[in-house]
Amino acid sequence: MGVRVKAKCTNCNYEFRFKYGTTKGEYLVYMAPALNIETLEFENINTINLKDKWKYSFYDVDNLNSENNYCPKCKQHELQFRSTTFY
Ligand SMILES: [Zn+2]
Repeated sequence: MGVRVKAKCTNCNYEFRFKYGTTKGEYLVYMAPALNIETLEFENINTINLKDKWKYSFYDVDNLNSENNYCPKCKQHELQFRSTTFY
């Protein structure tokens, strides 16, 4: 079971969507949102068998409707997460 989450920055209006969790029928997939600390870009990555784990700073998504997350675009902590659909 996974969830689609919409992220939107209230400061710069940067917007993106990501998947969090598993995908039905795919046992080696567990998606999570992370910041690539080398490129400082947002990435939605599969954490199972992930190589180069050190490269990523994972967002805390225990609460999928959260505020004050780091925005990779304007570098402010103004990013809001809103879960949209479960799949
Ligand atoms: Zn921003």
